Amino acid sequence: MSEAGDADRITERADLMGDAAARALIAEKLWALDPQRLLRFAVEDLFPGGIALVSSFGADSAVLLHMAAQIDRALPVLFIDTGVLFPETLAYRDRLVERLGLADVRDVGPDPDALAREDPETFLWSSDADRCCALRKVAPLERALGGFSAWISGRKRFQAATRAALPLFELDEGRVKVNPLANWSAAQISAYLDAHALPRHELVAQGYPSIGCVPCTSKVRPGEDARAGRWRGRAKTECGLHLRADAEPAPQNAPAAR
Ligand code: SF4
Repeated sequence: MSEAGDADRITERADLMGDAAARALIAEKLWALDPQRLLRFAVEDLFPGGIALVSSFGADSAVLLHMAAQIDRALPVLFIDTGVLFPETLAYRDRLVERLGLADVRDVGPDPDALAREDPETFLWSSDADRCCALRKVAPLERALGGFSAWISGRKRFQAATRAALPLFELDEGRVKVNPLANWSAAQISAYLDAHALPRHELVAQGYPSIGCVPCTSKVRPGEDARAGRWRGRAKTECGLHLRADAEPAPQNAPAAR
């Protein structure tokens, strides 16, 4: 039974139901799909030709990239190279591209003129981290997403208290953001990497379960959130790519992370 067929049946039933009931039914159906089936549904049925995967090539990125490669190796993958990433991340990107046969990985970077004007000493992260993220991440991604109506993110609920209610689908500035791994646990991520013999990012074994830019990433201590090492000591918890989301509340029937 295809997801598209399911969607048609749900739509037919939704005509006979009130909005709230229809939304709950659709949510229940989507939460029941495993991440790869949800990803296939989004890529092939919901947004054919109009969706991109945004990947940091960070600690868990191989999972979603591997799932995507099974569906379509030519799916556009947007990689934001802020100019201050760990060299291990750039090496990991190259390794995964070759291993998975990804055919359309696009490096997205900040505008050189804006960098020269606003951050000539590469020190903006210290004086105004929000502006630095806007310059090095948000603006480049916004440019790269032009022409796409949806994008895929690898965020998960277990990563931080601030992501505990992460939904499968969000609306963000007129685009749909899909989070296929929202409900997966750290153990499931690890098991998937093992099952498919996927290489790990080198820095994970050195104590970095979440990896961003060099100036804003530190090691995580036992018992801390996976993202505790990002912008440590500051109130900032997100880079700005995920702050504007007009998130739908998680459905009551969403299963807890296993
Ligand atoms: S994570 Fe830090 S260095 Fe990277 S763009 Fe944001 S503020 Fe700048």
